[in-house]
Amino acid sequence: MEKTTREQVLAALRGEGAYPVAIHDGAQSAPLHRADTNSLRSQVAAISVCQYATYELMEKTGAFWPQAHYEAAPMARLAAGGATVIGLGAVRVPYCQTVEAEIYGAKIKDGGRTHIPSIAEHPYKLGDTPEIPADFVKKGRIPAILEAIRILKREVGEKAVVMGSIVGPFSVAANLVGISALLKASLRKPDSILPYIEAATETAQQYAAAVIEAGADALVIEDMMASLDMISPRTYRALAAPYETRVIASVGKRIPVIIHICGKLDQVMTDIAATGADAISVESAVDIPAARQKFDEAGIRTPIIGAVHPIRALLEGTPEDVAAEVRKSAADGVALISPDCAVAPNTPLANLQAMVEAAGALQERR
Ligand SMILES: [Zn+2]
Repeated sequence: MEKTTREQVLAALRGEGAYPVAIHDGAQSAPLHRADTNSLRSQVAAISVCQYATYELMEKTGAFWPQAHYEAAPMARLAAGGATVIGLGAVRVPYCQTVEAEIYGAKIKDGGRTHIPSIAEHPYKLGDTPEIPADFVKKGRIPAILEAIRILKREVGEKAVVMGSIVGPFSVAANLVGISALLKASLRKPDSILPYIEAATETAQQYAAAVIEAGADALVIEDMMASLDMISPRTYRALAAPYETRVIASVGKRIPVIIHICGKLDQVMTDIAATGADAISVESAVDIPAARQKFDEAGIRTPIIGAVHPIRALLEGTPEDVAAEVRKSAADGVALISPDCAVAPNTPLANLQAMVEAAGALQERR
């Protein structure tokens, strides 16, 4: 029986989905990663691990920023458009990465109708002792996000995987003291930033538990600052990975966890897999076939998700450009198609729909 898109996504996150195989373009076919011949019948779905709200999606759903950042109903309505308008196999909230830092006391600059909220003022200076806010998940925008997850489960939970997205401890710490202070300290005095990362780990665990309690099917951890564009592999291993691991361990396999880190990650792909994440969302800067091969040699089965370029293909390209990147990602061995990173809000809806269509068309080519 054909799987629904929701089932395809969940199967892929469990590592049961086929790696897209044998995309024959005349040249050699990609290696078969599953001995199971059923995998030849399996399908590949498209999701967006990071934010996918666009101005056109706001028009179609009648739910707009900034309300969709703060109120559960428009937040859920806009997110649901991911499934009902774009055709994605998963929906997610929220749209920005400032939720945790705001509760720690960061001043937030509202982005109005066109931009996501950003951090105007960091709550701490390096050397301060961070304080974990009591009742973390009852503060700030978290109650609205949890309510949006419950609404999404009711409204589109049959057809799409509902994902709650939190920020990784290293990136929350960057939001607490500022990225340049954090980067400088990570080189010279790494011990001085541990209290922030520790606090962020504790609150990430609380937030993850609340997301699960609200009924989410999957958790996304966006650790955008833990990118090798920002830090060395050594810093990733010392200051990011151990804390990602603790958050993922606290989820305890109750729901699958997708970790998303930006940029070129080739040197730490096996370290990311070792965090226990159920899937890794990467950008097209990553050499996915090389990572898959390394994984296979090490007996790592963690699915990789990606990697349609959000600017080159989705924002500036044509639907044909998008389809070409979907086919390339599939041939490279991703288990689920997704944009590399956050989708720009002025991205044409037609290109996002083309991503979904091209992913659907892969099934027939197999
Ligand atoms: Zn990213």
